[in-house]
Amino acid sequence: MRQGGEAPTFERMISQLRSVVEAFPDKRTGANTHFSMSDIALSAFSVFFTQSESFLDFQRQIGRNNGRHNLASLFGVRDVPSDNHIRSMLDVVPAQMVYPMFDWMLCELEQLDELDRWRSIGNDLLVTLDGTEYYRSAKIHCPRCRVTHHTNGQVDYSHQLLSPAIVKPEWRRALALAPQFIRGEDGQTKAEGELTAAKRWIGSWGEFLSPLGVTICGDDIYASEPFLRLLGEYELNYVCVCKPKSHKYLSECINSLAATGDVDSTSVVVREGGKKRRMSYRWVQQVPLTGYRDALLVDWVSVEVTDDSGKRLYYNSFITNHRVSAETVAAVVAAGRARWKVENEDINTLKTKGYHLEHNFGHGKQHLCETLATLNILAFSVHTLLNLYDARYALLRRERGRRTRFFGEIGTLTGYIYFESWQALLGFMIEQLQLPDPGG
Ligand SMILES: [Zn+2]
Repeated sequence: MRQGGEAPTFERMISQLRSVVEAFPDKRTGANTHFSMSDIALSAFSVFFTQSESFLDFQRQIGRNNGRHNLASLFGVRDVPSDNHIRSMLDVVPAQMVYPMFDWMLCELEQLDELDRWRSIGNDLLVTLDGTEYYRSAKIHCPRCRVTHHTNGQVDYSHQLLSPAIVKPEWRRALALAPQFIRGEDGQTKAEGELTAAKRWIGSWGEFLSPLGVTICGDDIYASEPFLRLLGEYELNYVCVCKPKSHKYLSECINSLAATGDVDSTSVVVREGGKKRRMSYRWVQQVPLTGYRDALLVDWVSVEVTDDSGKRLYYNSFITNHRVSAETVAAVVAAGRARWKVENEDINTLKTKGYHLEHNFGHGKQHLCETLATLNILAFSVHTLLNLYDARYALLRRERGRRTRFFGEIGTLTGYIYFESWQALLGFMIEQLQLPDPGG
């Protein structure tokens, strides 16, 4: 770490978040301002940080001691608002108001020269784009919901978001960036698709990401010429899945080049999870993505993974603007597979527990659904940074196994005992477990 640099500790991250949430709009006009916006927003954040199942569950977890409580000592919450008050106050706050916190995290890592640790292909940061539905209901809805009319007359309401994350395949780790919400219809315009939302995200973040050196990784839908040209405008690189079914022209080009022996290939045996795997690569440089005149030229690569008996375990093909050669083919494929290689437990939690998030925390009439989802994603990013920069946290996460177990224990402990600080809490756990204390 750069000399004199200060790692993003829990306290620094909470302190920064406090300054971000203090800018939230406050809809109250009268004298009823007992709870500050910071009390309100940090209470909500702490629910996601501690992975509580509901606001109510969380209220029970605030260990009190002579009027002192853990929300004050850990999160700087002076007084704890009711869940209804949190919902009502955060409903008027657009999710975008949380985004400066994501900027801050990236800038911190950059200033510490720590972003370099995340670099992989071509010395770039790998940023995966992934769309996900995080809410669906037949009843509860808001004006920002996507509306689906089924043929049987049933109507469903849903929310989707694009969740970009910096990934490091070797670490199996992801740092979530600010999300992009995929817009529903708003009375004038139709609901947008994931790709349109991704274009807006690039429009918002492209200039910020460009000087950092970024390769965007996406699924087959991102292997579209307008999107890849947009990336080119921001000098962002890409590795995208490219299925033959949706890229017929390119696929035919590859087939005819293969027929004349003009597809390069190589294979290597590697160990994956202790087992021998043969990786067979094929690639072609500078093939047209489409049959249109002046079509974008891309490098194409495929990978087949087989076991000892020759049985195919995996096959995929990708396109990229990185030059594919015998030297780089493995790195390009590793980048393309990053989305699957990274055990993105945190983002998957958001996906699989979407209903849980929704039903227990509230939907709101304006922004609440999006703002709470953003605070949740932010909590995941804070967890990722703690894993990197908080030795006690990293040790306990490793030792206690599943994430749910670790946070369950935090919930129980903070329900009974008052801790002066975050490090006091972790130190107590380490002491009780008789683990060697790496220091805080
Ligand atoms: Zn909604």
